Amino acid sequence: MHTIRHTPGRTIHLYGNALTEHKTHSINDEHLHDLLLEATKTAIEGAYGFGVDVPVGAATSENGRILAADYAKDNLIGDERAHAEYMALQKTHELHHNASPDTIGVTLEPCFNCQKYISDNPSIQLVTFVLPIAQASLRNIVRKKNGDIFQKSEQGELPFTVVQFEDAQLAKIGGLLLDFTKRDLETKETTVDLLGLHRALPAEFRL
Ligand SMILES: [Zn+2]
Repeated sequence: MHTIRHTPGRTIHLYGNALTEHKTHSINDEHLHDLLLEATKTAIEGAYGFGVDVPVGAATSENGRILAADYAKDNLIGDERAHAEYMALQKTHELHHNASPDTIGVTLEPCFNCQKYISDNPSIQLVTFVLPIAQASLRNIVRKKNGDIFQKSEQGELPFTVVQFEDAQLAKIGGLLLDFTKRDLETKETTVDLLGLHRALPAEFRL
C-alpha cells in the first residue's frame, strides 16, 4: 500500500477508486509505482551517464502503458527548458506520433516552468511525483520558492490533478540522488559525486 496526497475537491479515478473527499488516501497503485520507478531509473541513468545536471527523471504513460522516459539535461544540452518533464514529453511525441499521454510521473515535484509546459500538453490529466521540491531547496540545489504545486492546483491554476506518491524506497533513492548533487545556484553548474552515489545506492539500482 502507498499513501498518496492529491488535490482536494477533485475526483480522480485510480484503478476503480474514485477519490474525492480527502486529501490523503491509502492506495495500492501498481501503475503509478511502476511509472515512478521508471522515472527513478532514468534519473540514475542521467547521473551515471553525464552527471552535469540535477538527476531528475520523468516518465509518461497512456492508459497505464508507459510510453517514454527521460532525464533532465538542461546543462548537458545548454537549453534551460530541458528539465526531465520537458524531455520526457518531447521523447513521447518523437517515439509515438499519435500518443496522448494522460499521466506524467517525476522523481521531484515539477518546477513552475515545467508546470506551465505540462499544462500546454492538454492530454495530461495527472501529474505524480515522489519528492517535494523543498527537498532540493533544503540541499541548496534549487532556490527556495514560495508555495508548492498543491497551492497552484488548489488555486485552480493547473489543468491536471496532482498526486504526491509516497513510497519509502523511491523516496530514499530520490533523496540519495539529491544528496550527492552539488549545484551553484548562480552559475547553475552541477556536479554529481558518482562514486559516493554508487556506494550509497542499493545494489539493484547501481549501473
Ligand atoms: Zn522543471
